[in-house]
Amino acid sequence: MFRKNKYKKACIIGLGKSGRAVAQLLADNGYEVLISEETAIQEPALLKLPAGVRVETGGHTQAVFQSDFIVKSPGIFPKSPVLLECKKRKIPVFSELETALAFMPKGVRVFAVTGTNGKTTTTALLGEILDEHCRQTGRGARVFVCGNIGTPVSLIVPELKPGDNLVIEVSSYQLEDSTYFHPQYACLLNVTPDHLDHHGGLKNYIKAKMRIFKNQREKDVLVLNGADTACAQAAQKAPSEVFAFSTHPKHLLKTDVFFDGDEMIFSAGHQLRPPHLKGIHNVENAMAAALMALEAGVPAATVQSVFDRFTAMEHRIEQFAYHRGVTYVNDSKATNVDSTVTALKSFPAAKHIWLILGGRDKGFPYTELLPYLKTRCKQVLTIGEAMDKIEKDLAGFPLTRCFDLKRAAEYAFANAQKGDVVLLSPACSSFDQFKSFEHRGQVFKQLINALVFAARTDGKN
Ligand code: ADP
Repeated sequence: MFRKNKYKKACIIGLGKSGRAVAQLLADNGYEVLISEETAIQEPALLKLPAGVRVETGGHTQAVFQSDFIVKSPGIFPKSPVLLECKKRKIPVFSELETALAFMPKGVRVFAVTGTNGKTTTTALLGEILDEHCRQTGRGARVFVCGNIGTPVSLIVPELKPGDNLVIEVSSYQLEDSTYFHPQYACLLNVTPDHLDHHGGLKNYIKAKMRIFKNQREKDVLVLNGADTACAQAAQKAPSEVFAFSTHPKHLLKTDVFFDGDEMIFSAGHQLRPPHLKGIHNVENAMAAALMALEAGVPAATVQSVFDRFTAMEHRIEQFAYHRGVTYVNDSKATNVDSTVTALKSFPAAKHIWLILGGRDKGFPYTELLPYLKTRCKQVLTIGEAMDKIEKDLAGFPLTRCFDLKRAAEYAFANAQKGDVVLLSPACSSFDQFKSFEHRGQVFKQLINALVFAARTDGKN
């Protein structure tokens, strides 16, 4: 367990956003801090470093092993040589999450959301609901939303006071080195294969996800998906009170809320209309956020008021343009096959979608897409490193090889007809051609908006 005052010398592996944030937190608390980064980084990034923090880039030196403990940035491969050497030398390794929370004052309520898909949406919904509740009750308690969703936990912790609420989106990368993490309210949305290379297989990935509730106590709350096999298995091992949601008629656990196609019906007696978000998966995200909030004492009317005003989040089935009867949708956040299936399922079976697929392959078959492509898509446009594999897996389905997003956007724009949908839901990560999924989504929107603008100014609208 990370104990304050036990250690003096910290080494942070990885000079990313959370690495810099935890360096700041530790330096402010009197630790000697070294950041060690494998890749060579140019001068401007270094300028943003907190005062008093030493840094080495372009490789790890012996200085790493002279530290009392290691903080591993989430993206660092657990089997990387530097970490294996630390383990051999018995230098403790902690996540940024666990290190940061050691500096949190007592009396803060911690809400944590994890799962393969839906984390950001559920975290954002829950954050808004709690925020609205705090505003209405006017007792001065505050809500901080952080973690994977944007701001590292280390940057928020110094702001916290007893009575505040901390809502954290937690990835499996953060959980794998968090042995003592204890949220009072935890949520496991779903578990499907993802990031298996990093964790070394599905078993380890599930094990990491389970850490969200491992240290919970009897009076704590665990919200999970009653129709998901891994979640149902997790429920057996939960030390806390389990609340299950499901939108499926067939579920594996007794559920505390179901969907009648119109409203979410809670066994506690509430009935809530879901937010105006596309897709049944978003009803699940809303159910999860509502269960956590209701258990935390938020009135159902407050939850409903937030649902009524909540709008689609950027890069998540985001409808951003409509031109000549064609709808353009940015789902750049779909970085695995499952989330592309989810996006396709949220459209009717009308064979009207031009689907842009591809990027950096994550090692899963694209064949799972075939039943949805057949009922929903006109054509698949392939881009990026994964083109060959996608074309092989989807052989027989109409495909056009576009190489990059620009050509795919131009091709779809030129060929889509009234009533069609052009959907970027790539089922791959973005790192072959973009900095991030956000960058990929923004480029897509700029490309389409520029084409729409040119068509309008040409008088062809
Ligand atoms: P995450 O933060 O876990 O990546 P997001 O809320 O950003 O999740 O949603 C990313 C994508 O995952 C969405 O565009 C959608 O395709 C898919 N998705 C979202 N929620 C769910 C869910 N509950 N079940 C399955 N897929 C989902």
